[in-house]
Amino acid sequence: MDVADVSGVPPWFAEQLREEGIESLYPPQAEAVEAGVTDGESLVASVPTASGKTLVAELAMLSAVGRGGKALYIVPLRALATEKYEEFREFERHGVEVGVSTGNYEADGEWLARKDVVVATSEKVDSLVRNGAGWLDELDCVVADEVHLVDDSSRGPTLEVTLAKLRRINAALQVVALSATVGNAAELADWLDAELVDSTWRPIELRKGVHYGQALHFGDGETRELGVGRSEKPTAAIVRETLADGGSTLVFVNSRRNAEAAADRLASTTREFLDAEETARLSALAEEIRSVSDTETSESLAAAVERGAAFHHAGCSSEHRSLVEDAFRDRLIKVVAATPTLAAGVNTPSRRVVVRDWRRYSGDAGGMQPLSVLEVHQMMGRAGRPGRDPYGEALLLANSHDELEELLERYVWAEPEPVRSKLAAEPAMRTHLLATVASGFAGSRSELLAFLDRTLYATQTEETGRLERVVDETIAYLEANGFLEGWDGLSATSLGHTVSRLYLDPMSAAEIIDGLEDAAEPTAMGLYHLVSRTPDMYELYLRSGDREEYTMTAYERESEFLGPMPSEFEEGRFEDWLSALKTACMLEDWAEETDEDRIAERYGVGPGDIRGKVDTAEWLLGAAERLASELDLDCVIAIREAKKRVEHGVGEELIELVGVRGVGRKRARRLFDAGIESPATLREADKATVLAALRGREKTAESVLEAAGHRDPDMSDVRPDPDAAVDEDDEPTGDEQAQSSLGDF
Ligand code: ADP
Repeated sequence: MDVADVSGVPPWFAEQLREEGIESLYPPQAEAVEAGVTDGESLVASVPTASGKTLVAELAMLSAVGRGGKALYIVPLRALATEKYEEFREFERHGVEVGVSTGNYEADGEWLARKDVVVATSEKVDSLVRNGAGWLDELDCVVADEVHLVDDSSRGPTLEVTLAKLRRINAALQVVALSATVGNAAELADWLDAELVDSTWRPIELRKGVHYGQALHFGDGETRELGVGRSEKPTAAIVRETLADGGSTLVFVNSRRNAEAAADRLASTTREFLDAEETARLSALAEEIRSVSDTETSESLAAAVERGAAFHHAGCSSEHRSLVEDAFRDRLIKVVAATPTLAAGVNTPSRRVVVRDWRRYSGDAGGMQPLSVLEVHQMMGRAGRPGRDPYGEALLLANSHDELEELLERYVWAEPEPVRSKLAAEPAMRTHLLATVASGFAGSRSELLAFLDRTLYATQTEETGRLERVVDETIAYLEANGFLEGWDGLSATSLGHTVSRLYLDPMSAAEIIDGLEDAAEPTAMGLYHLVSRTPDMYELYLRSGDREEYTMTAYERESEFLGPMPSEFEEGRFEDWLSALKTACMLEDWAEETDEDRIAERYGVGPGDIRGKVDTAEWLLGAAERLASELDLDCVIAIREAKKRVEHGVGEELIELVGVRGVGRKRARRLFDAGIESPATLREADKATVLAALRGREKTAESVLEAAGHRDPDMSDVRPDPDAAVDEDDEPTGDEQAQSSLGDF
């Protein structure tokens, strides 16, 4: 089907696609059009990775906008929101306004009302519903990307409930759900009252196989020699063979540490294939990577990149990740060793994919667990770049003949599993029941049950009475904590409304309230520990030796904790308390201006983790502040200060200075040490002193002075004051710029 023949889509879009080299629709896209996706029909599209799902979404959204409507594109991860936004922004040239909502959870995003297409994460949309964003009533088309993630116990329930709410708000809403190939696509379509496109078509042939011994064994029975040298690992041999043929390889492993180690090892293979120009470009890229942050992760990434390899995992900062993704797409980086985060949606095709680890450690199961077929197929789907490669190859690795057989059975020939709703899990129910009542979707137990009847969970559950039971237990919990009350029906208390709008897990709110109630003058440590032990904060794991260390710290600082410390004999609870303490110590280090690399080393985390924890702590402290003021507690100021310190990573005395644009934690410290202790002093400051404190960087000094409102920021004739010069070891970092984006949800 020619794109120009599709009814309902603006002519400029066909033109734009043609410019990108897209003349005709892929078969699943044509099926979607035939099913009515451009006429407002709801649709579930279950098609393999890289088969053009985005275009199906674009056709649906643009035809809705063409009819005068408004569309929302829901993504599972924040990184994807930005990526999709960049992609859709092309529409603006044709008068279609596009917005992305990643801001604070609490806002209602009224400015989005003017946009035709909005991109947001499911958490963000959920929060917009809770905060009563009026423009949601005007939606005509909602796209849910990666809808198979309803199966994910942490993120799935939010997506499920959000779709149910949006459909309640507008019964005629068009829902376009995009999914990887799953075992029960028809069931998803049934849940969403949607048409179904269930296809296995791919734009480029994908050959799946297993490497064993000295050969590749493909699913279709073909074998081909691929020799592994004496002291060589099979992955290196595969990478070498692919490179000899001018292709790149994506290697999936099961942990960050493994990703880093694999990148380092594979770099010795890739380096042999680099020409002089590539070497020069890679070394410039490595410099750019080093300038992003001063951590060990950054250094080891740069060291691998110099030699043509890289790693990619959630501990990397987002700047690192996008540098790596771009250079891999440009074929400058030849190998990326990644954890499965890369398989989730980011468009990084590669000639070959190696799924090196097909088992992963699972805390729940207490050991190694095989990955699901769905996950492995998504990784495999990254193989083959349409228009560039003749075909893609995705390989698993076997160590024995038995394992070869097992892998062929388990993954190569297997169909993906069905996705199952995880809504009945306790934290999900707590959060969503409260929000459903608070935002007016249900005013009694029976209305709640009727609402839940529109979820996938209800479509799937066979056990009669289970839903009622879970709902009753959850209502009882919410009533006991003062979030819900029921006389004639059910309603949210004022506190319950606040908790729902703040986007807190009610259990986090209960923990915070309990802790704050008997704290007249909490210390920063006390507050960091309090928010770190809520279920909304992912705690740091205890490594060997940590238990002893943090047990000591726990006793030393016992008086600071808010709420009683569990006894050492309560195994699980005490352990959790210590993990929260480790997290709190990390936040305290950050707020005491410890260098990022020291923190990374001390706690065994990457820069991305530090950011993540800092963001979450800032959000939770903001929520704690709101709860404290609602309950009229004395500790509001103490919370606000602890929050500011964690937000900027500075001591109390620097809080004002970091308020000046362009002044991060390090610059603020240097200015302070040079005697410039507040924005007011900075406004009047001697320029030579400022220049020296900012290490002689004229441009920086000018923009800082300008931001502070200095009457004459020009630095042309200023020499840094030698007496005010700072320690040369104190390397500047990209950190200072990145600070300004902290706290972005
Ligand atoms: P998915 O979301 O299914 O993983 P994408 O939507 O990212 O896949 O599409 C993968 C690639 O295919 C993109 O680079 C896109 O531009 C390209 N593409 C999509 N549809 C077509 C088409 N009809 N013809 C040619 N290329 C296409």
